[in-house]
Amino acid sequence: MKKHIKGLHHVTSMAADAQVNNAFFTQTLGLRRVKKTVNFDDPGTYHLYYGDKTGTPGSVMTYFPFGQMPKGKRGNGEVGVTEFAVAKDTLGFWQDRLSEQGVTGLSRSTFLGENRLAFDGSDGDGFALVETERSGRTAWTSAGVDEETGILGFHGARFRLNDAAATAELLTFMGYEKDETDGNVTRYRIEDGNAARTIDLEELPGASSAYQGAGSVHHIAFAVENRAAQDEMRKALLDTGYQVTPVIDRDYFHAIYFRTPGGILFEIATNEPGFDRDEDTAHLGEALKLPAMYQPYRSRIESALPVLAQRR
Ligand code: ZN
Repeated sequence: MKKHIKGLHHVTSMAADAQVNNAFFTQTLGLRRVKKTVNFDDPGTYHLYYGDKTGTPGSVMTYFPFGQMPKGKRGNGEVGVTEFAVAKDTLGFWQDRLSEQGVTGLSRSTFLGENRLAFDGSDGDGFALVETERSGRTAWTSAGVDEETGILGFHGARFRLNDAAATAELLTFMGYEKDETDGNVTRYRIEDGNAARTIDLEELPGASSAYQGAGSVHHIAFAVENRAAQDEMRKALLDTGYQVTPVIDRDYFHAIYFRTPGGILFEIATNEPGFDRDEDTAHLGEALKLPAMYQPYRSRIESALPVLAQRR
């Protein structure tokens, strides 16, 4: 099979309060809100997208803020850490900034030669900033974060698993290559893709399973160029025995989903058409965008959603 997977596309997590979530990503982390829409399966809930200037695949963190939702409990069978890339020598800046803003869970470490700063998201999400090469990426600048220090997009993700073997086999099937191991964590990398290219498998035999809630990753999406590549991947996965959904139109990309042996929900999403298909790049994420099926109910939907600060 051709190597269709190009690295990460987006990561989608669950949150409690939409306003807190919006403030954390646009102000504390300085990402751009690139789309304000609703959960296509539940239009009473926002679907918020944060990323770089245009929401380049490999930079997009997305949220369903469900309101009154209990926090998740971290454990096996989930994405344990979502990793953002920053330029070399910027972790000191970030440690000071996050500490001043009351962010918890700050912890510096090194893994496979890369400097990391772990921190908690606003719902206790597991995050890390990792110093790496810029790889041609440009940070969105706002809220006291400049081009030197800004988040470049994803670096990768770390999965927590009871047994890593079946997930390792799946990643290899998807085109990832086994890289180095340090302790109970083995890195897999995708070559010739975007810069969000690593998946680390952390094996924790016998640890308790995750309980999904606010702060948990709902699913992780991998990028393919277009519908044709997605169709080939879908067929290959079905032939291998995976239960894969039909192709679903998410307005800004097309998506297929399948549950993986380690318990994590994977999505494969197309790089096209992108987040600027229905609004100007200069005003991305400002207006509430609705899929066609909900357009007739705009006023009712909009009045039921919390108002979000308009900072870009
Ligand atoms: Zn998704």
